[in-house]
Amino acid sequence: MSQFHYRRRHFLFTAAGVTGAFLLKGCGPQVQETAQPTPAAEPGVAPEVTTIRLGFLPIVESAPLIIAKEKGFFAKYGMPGVEVVKQASWASARDNVVIGSAAGGIDGGMWQLPMPHLITEGVITNGQKVPMYVLAQLITQGNGIAIAGAHQGKGLHLRIQNPDYIKGFSRTNGRKFRAAFTFPGGNQELWIRYWLAANGIDPDKDIELLTVPPAETVQGMRTGTMDAFSTGDPWPFRIVNEGIGFLGALTAQMWPAHPEEYLAIRADWVDKHPKATLALLQAVMAAQQWCDDPANRQELATILAGRNYFNVPVAVLEPPFQGKYTLGDGQPEVNDFQMGPLYWQDRQGNVSYPYKSHELWFLTETMRWGLHNRFIKDMDQAKKLVDRVNRADLWLEAAKLSGIAQVPTGPSRGKETFFDGVTFDPDNPQQYLAQLQIKRA
Ligand code: CA
Repeated sequence: MSQFHYRRRHFLFTAAGVTGAFLLKGCGPQVQETAQPTPAAEPGVAPEVTTIRLGFLPIVESAPLIIAKEKGFFAKYGMPGVEVVKQASWASARDNVVIGSAAGGIDGGMWQLPMPHLITEGVITNGQKVPMYVLAQLITQGNGIAIAGAHQGKGLHLRIQNPDYIKGFSRTNGRKFRAAFTFPGGNQELWIRYWLAANGIDPDKDIELLTVPPAETVQGMRTGTMDAFSTGDPWPFRIVNEGIGFLGALTAQMWPAHPEEYLAIRADWVDKHPKATLALLQAVMAAQQWCDDPANRQELATILAGRNYFNVPVAVLEPPFQGKYTLGDGQPEVNDFQMGPLYWQDRQGNVSYPYKSHELWFLTETMRWGLHNRFIKDMDQAKKLVDRVNRADLWLEAAKLSGIAQVPTGPSRGKETFFDGVTFDPDNPQQYLAQLQIKRA
């Protein structure tokens, strides 16, 4: 029995009344015109407001928000005024959600975990607590560890052949090996820490960890100011494609179908606008289904590549969306749709449903590294924080409104297995911590 407080539900919804709404395959660009009337448009369930400001960063994680806007899903569910607003960095997104849309900021958007939990507790906001709700997972996979080209031929792959190459780096180079991410304490930091530690390298002692602004990441790889970089598509792909470096590992190789980024919104906004929240969720779920349809992937790449969004050549987005990765440095190419970014369905089931067990992993990993000991003191506190922030109940309500028949039946996806054989049992996170060789906790 799970230790989570939750409302166990076994929804087997019928699709009555909304049959047409989610059979999007083959509908093409006419989907808005030909779709059935939707539940949110019916009397009594109209959203309280038709607008919200949602932040995004130009990486593939943002696709469901951009597609919900561009393909008219927000409008279809009664929210035509949703603004999808580009953020300069994770720090800007954080600052903008603290001030909220009334002051020119944002109400929510896409987040790396555990940012919503840290913002809720005031951990990364100078003590100012801004309660947030996690409403849906936006994406799985689509991230990677890029390595600078200077390290070719050294076996810095998923399983590092010679960890002493990194551990002894300062002896031969006068400085430690440098690994970077764009926001401290977010999942990008946790991915690169996991990869290094699983290979016997202590990320706090053997290397130097750096926070680098997004605009400087590729340049840093080029000039040699950093050796490894944890990031989302299309950047890992670009680094290989432009000859700057290679991919040490895809996060999909480290933890297949892993939790990646999430839709989270300020709790005060959600509490004030419960119907609009359901409408947003319905729109995002519809967009996620659209994004995963192979027939739509070319159009998806074209939309995201646009000037208002990623502002990149469409060619750099196409391969990751087909699960095609040239890892470089003599590694076999990956050519598997299931290894690329997925938005609705992966090998483990539903991508969109926000599992409490995944949020608990992020907080457990935060404890592993002692990142926020002052705020998240023990497992009991971590679980209570997950219980406050996770709103899978709203996700299930929205799924029911949309007639989605197959939904997860509980807050835990069960035991998770990583590439190094370590397992995380959400019912016994202490046992996970006990298995790990390198840790601060
Ligand atoms: Ca990411």
